[in-house]
Amino acid sequence: MRILILGPQGSGKGTQAKRMASSRGGVHVATGDILRAAAAEGSELGRRIEPILERGDLVPDDLMIDLIRERLADADAFVLDGFPRTLPQAEALDAMLAEIGKPLDAVILLQVGDDVATGRLQARSAAEGRADDAPAAIRNRLRLYHELTEPLVGRYREDGMLIAVDGGGSVEKVGADIEDALSQVGVRSR
Ligand code: ADP
Repeated sequence: MRILILGPQGSGKGTQAKRMASSRGGVHVATGDILRAAAAEGSELGRRIEPILERGDLVPDDLMIDLIRERLADADAFVLDGFPRTLPQAEALDAMLAEIGKPLDAVILLQVGDDVATGRLQARSAAEGRADDAPAAIRNRLRLYHELTEPLVGRYREDGMLIAVDGGGSVEKVGADIEDALSQVGVRSR
């Protein structure tokens, strides 16, 4: 199983990606988690990206592409969460998956409106205190999603790979809808 999950911040992408990876037996490759771990380690890379994460800006494409290439080379089954976020990243992903002979099975788009997304992010901010869940950073992240990431949806739709799922329900409901949609297109669980 090789799945890409797309959707705005607060759509429940990370939660559903984790569920899919554990129920279907794949690696959850979450770029945000990888970057936050690097920042927490305080490595050279970590120091470079920490202020970017805090503002809710995007880490440079070349750095992200190298990081993903490394992860995907080792993984046969994966759920990719947080990458690609820009057109150059999407083009690089196509090229590297073709090169290693690991095409995607499906692209899931979790749809929620900005008001629902913002409400969920604010609730998470109160619970977890993530630096980029401050109001200005939330606005910046959603703006960048609409400007740079959302245009990728059309690409995957044209490829016939896109499965759009309403992300507004409970974790269980959204999870069940994803499972139904995947089995309809013949992406089987283990
Ligand atoms: P969210 O999707 O809620 O913004 P993530 O945990 O996926 O949260 O990402 C956190 C931050 O990590 C982003 O705001 C961005 O700074 C950085 N990041 C993650 N993935 C990418 C990517 N593919 N390209 C550039 N920056 C990224």
